[in-house]
Amino acid sequence: MSSFLDELNDAQRDPVLHKDGPLMVIAGAGSGKTRVLTYRIAHLMEQGVDSFNILALTFTNKAAREMKKRIALIAGSSETKNLWMGTFHSVFAKLLRFDGDKLGFPSNFTIYDTQDSQRLIASIIKEMGLDKDIYKYKQIQNRISSYKNSLITVKAYFQNPELVEADAMAKRPRLGEIYQNYVDRCFKAGAMDFDDLLLRTNELLTRFPEVLMKYQDRFRYILVDEYQDTNHSQYLIVKALSDRYQNICVVGDDAQSIYSFRGANINNILNFQKDYDNVGMYRLEQNYRSTKNIVNAANSIIAKNKNQLEKVVWTSNDEGNKIKIHRSITDAEEGRYVASSIFENKMQQQMQNGEFAVLYRTNSQSRAIEDALRKRDIPYRIYGGLSFYQRKEIKDVLAYLRMIINPKDEEALKRVINFPARGIGQTTIDKLIVAANHYGRSIFEVIEHLKKLDLKINTGTKRKLEDFVTMIKSFQIMNEGSDAFTLAEHVAKKTGLLLEFKKDGTPEGIARMENIEELLNGIKDFVEGQKELADATGGLSEFLEDVALATDLDKDTGDDDRVALMTIHLAKGLEFPYVYVVGMEEDLFPSAMSMNTRSELEEERRLFYVALTRAEKQAFLTYTQNRYRWGKLIDAEPSRFLEEIEEQYVENLTPVNDGYRYKSLIDADIFGEVDKSKLRQIKPKNGTPPSIQKPNENQLRKLRKLKPQLSSPAQNTNTIDSNLSEGSLVNHTRFGRGTVLKIEGIGNDKKAEIKFEKGDIKKLLLRFAKLEVL
Ligand code: ATP
Ligand code: MG
Repeated sequence: MSSFLDELNDAQRDPVLHKDGPLMVIAGAGSGKTRVLTYRIAHLMEQGVDSFNILALTFTNKAAREMKKRIALIAGSSETKNLWMGTFHSVFAKLLRFDGDKLGFPSNFTIYDTQDSQRLIASIIKEMGLDKDIYKYKQIQNRISSYKNSLITVKAYFQNPELVEADAMAKRPRLGEIYQNYVDRCFKAGAMDFDDLLLRTNELLTRFPEVLMKYQDRFRYILVDEYQDTNHSQYLIVKALSDRYQNICVVGDDAQSIYSFRGANINNILNFQKDYDNVGMYRLEQNYRSTKNIVNAANSIIAKNKNQLEKVVWTSNDEGNKIKIHRSITDAEEGRYVASSIFENKMQQQMQNGEFAVLYRTNSQSRAIEDALRKRDIPYRIYGGLSFYQRKEIKDVLAYLRMIINPKDEEALKRVINFPARGIGQTTIDKLIVAANHYGRSIFEVIEHLKKLDLKINTGTKRKLEDFVTMIKSFQIMNEGSDAFTLAEHVAKKTGLLLEFKKDGTPEGIARMENIEELLNGIKDFVEGQKELADATGGLSEFLEDVALATDLDKDTGDDDRVALMTIHLAKGLEFPYVYVVGMEEDLFPSAMSMNTRSELEEERRLFYVALTRAEKQAFLTYTQNRYRWGKLIDAEPSRFLEEIEEQYVENLTPVNDGYRYKSLIDADIFGEVDKSKLRQIKPKNGTPPSIQKPNENQLRKLRKLKPQLSSPAQNTNTIDSNLSEGSLVNHTRFGRGTVLKIEGIGNDKKAEIKFEKGDIKKLLLRFAKLEVL
């Protein structure tokens, strides 16, 4: 047996060795699903399958690159070059470059990012004279995106009275028209948005049987990672391509399905056995990633979900430390705790920054963490959020570059036609748009033929428009003989972009200029890298393709050592020795938007399962009692998920004493919520640091007066503990009034069994329960 197969356990080896035909691996986190996929590809190649015939679809391009590297080590690097491997979007963008012309798209089509789509939709809403408060462009973009992911084309939309009626009821009767205009405009601009990459692929494979046959024949072996998060559009593509040879291998975990809000459909997993004949079903049970404590804690959480496939996950790894739970009073303090904990662990355990990750539910939570890390001089990198390529100045440069490749690109043109300012006003642009719509042409084409058209634009402005076209054309000529870097540098200078930010002179302007320089450096690296590849030229269109589909995760070369900050959604499939999940609070996680139905809540719980199972050695869960949200300081309650972890796996780090409360109040002071003079009154006189000084009763009374919500009895478990006994009447913020049936456990583990008037009997951990004794 070849040696690489020895790096698998028996259960993993079976699906790797599975002969032709469909197979599915369903298994919990960290059990080696991605490893199985990787090794199966290597094994297929070793068995003589041509790498040209293998297609592997992954969740990120970074994952694809890592798999490729691993396969190259096993099967040799020259062979792996022919593998088609990447995200659905990048793989099918490539396919559409070859065959999209059949649908009327040029091979140099532009890929619109979400921001481009939103701008175009906003512009259409304006042109149609609709009320922008009713027709909100972001919502509309979202809606169109979900139609596309469900394969509801404009035609299908108008043929479906339910959809039309629903939008009419929502006071948006013209949504269909906006959809129609949007599709037309993208087409005319030679542009596809992210959803089009899947929708148009489906269209291509359905309308052109010869194209379908060609790719069925090419991709004889198809493998899909994270299958639980494929949407309908992706499902259909995979189904069509694998229909002939049926060599389809999917791996996934229903417990990690977290993208239903983007149309992911768990039924794709559940129906797999119905969709194909003789499916080989495999299960993996041993987790190699995490400690026993983490694995068991994660199991105890996911067990709360009713809707799931039965699964066993165990590990022979060390017991490990318990999961640490930390409470703070403000989000700023939460950030400081995370930063100092990372700092201490780095020192004590000799860890690298890159071995830590901070995960959160929403991007906006990163700010407090960033501030604290910066103060501690701990380098970090934020993934997601506003990526480098979405910054204004970068988009400006890219817009010029996009126009060189595809001058019809309307969003690029609108961005730069008058930036830097060259005296072409909005009225002129509006006239051009009207003309372009009228003639069914792109704006660029209208300008090219300005002389022949009778537009009410004065001669001076006409000349400026023509100069713009001439400039773009001169770049196009240069593009024939230059690499992407030489061209981009020329463009940044010649258009006046660099000068524009330089002459701005403000720190912001300088930062923007530096970003452009960073972009140019990036292009240079790209060009150098491409030169090593056989079938690449280092040309501009290759670079733009790379950028359009890049996520920050893909840009991570791993050569600088930084703490990773990202949303839990983005962390899927990744692993880190130390993981902090911050913001474990009701309404934040689970999100306030996800509490309407059981299935929404279960998806949040799966998200928590994903978060926890990213950790190898140690997981920290933090929450704060007060958080700034929607511009207001709100009273936050610990997440129900904290109560749901079986308590033997957790350790509560934050002692509930009022010295701590005092210290935290000082932190709260940064919000201006606390009267400083009063704080001074209760400051301990003997110089003992406040964190270990326990205030006396008098001081405590004053503290409570300062800010009732910070010290309300409902949150002070000390008070509850002592007052609570069997038969006590209590009030819980969520469950309402009830009677204590039983009290058990001691200290942190103290629990009360309560019968609530609404009928439920619940066991609550007193250190979390928001109870008030009546
Ligand atoms: P997730 O559900 O989070 O995507 P997964 O099931 O894809 O997880 P992998 O990422 O493939 O799991 O594996 C988890 C970790 O365990 C990786 O670091 C992997 O290298 C390691 N691992 C998996 N199988 C083995 C094995 N047989 N021997 C040693 N290490 C293994
Ligand atoms: Mg995986």
